[in-house]
Amino acid sequence: MAATLIDGKAFAAKVRGQVAEHVARLKEENGITPGLAVVLVGEDPASQVYVRSKGKQTVEVGMNSVEHKLDADTSEADLLAVVEQLNNDPSIHGILVQLPLPKHMNEDLVINSIAPEKDVDGFHISNVGLLGTGQKSMVPCTPLGCLMMLRDHHGSLSGMDAVVIGRSNIVGKPMAQLLLGDSCTVTIAHSRTKDLPDVVRRADIVVAAVGRPEMVPGDWIKEGATVIDVGINRIERDGKTKLVGDVDFASAAERAGAITPVPGGVGPMTIACLLANTVTACCRANGLKEPEGLTA
Ligand code: NAD
Repeated sequence: MAATLIDGKAFAAKVRGQVAEHVARLKEENGITPGLAVVLVGEDPASQVYVRSKGKQTVEVGMNSVEHKLDADTSEADLLAVVEQLNNDPSIHGILVQLPLPKHMNEDLVINSIAPEKDVDGFHISNVGLLGTGQKSMVPCTPLGCLMMLRDHHGSLSGMDAVVIGRSNIVGKPMAQLLLGDSCTVTIAHSRTKDLPDVVRRADIVVAAVGRPEMVPGDWIKEGATVIDVGINRIERDGKTKLVGDVDFASAAERAGAITPVPGGVGPMTIACLLANTVTACCRANGLKEPEGLTA
């Protein structure tokens, strides 16, 4: 393997350490403990795992963690009432409604009912608009984590050619906005892109966020490029279940200058950035200086 490994697990631990330091300072100097509320509707096993992990890590960095678990048949009105109560609770600085929601609920409506300044997932339409116009916002956690790793590796990203594969609202689009904000020349590729290999071959930075196991082979990667693999795909190989990314790691690592593995790359950064967003939201709510390096 020629590429430098970008260790998301270690980086996420560092981010959590910075968050914990800031939380300790907020408690000591201002008597404030940041609070994160997570709302889970229904019994989706993957969502339950995420929510447990979020709650555990929230407590580990010294913040208050509140969980609201609602039955799958909860009405939309009752969920909106829970969000409203959290919006009005001054001890709560971040609110996350775990997606996906049951089919009888309108996700956009629910997300847009969260107070934008407490929307630590960065999905509220106001935050989407603020990010799109280069203003201070709450930034979606996964793209924020990717940006932090890229900045850490390169310093300045100015003038680099970046290709984001995938145009989802939670990863692809905000990722492209963040790279544009750091003065990259950005291409967003998607399922209708003509000659994807040619587009990817021009990139100094490749962010793959598709959800297709190992679809980007090494020979699409420009020599020395930085590859950020957001994909998390479960496959069966050699009789075992394995997690792989959207990039064929072994062949891409032969050509890339730096690459994130799956698992242990982007994945751990997402919750770390959720905690970072919560401490940022808490500082903003109290008119205090925001922690440096934890926002876009
Ligand atoms: P999505 O399904 O919402 O979007 C996928 C995008 O890929 C779409 O915009 C589509 O146009 C594009 N696409 C599909 N087929 C394509 C093809 N053949 N060529 C080019 N583009 C194609 O997915 P998402 O929510 O953005 O997630 C993408 C991946 O990232 C998934 O594997 C998901 O599990 C993973 N993910 C990881 C984290 C994390 O914490 N690491 C967070 C969110 C998502």
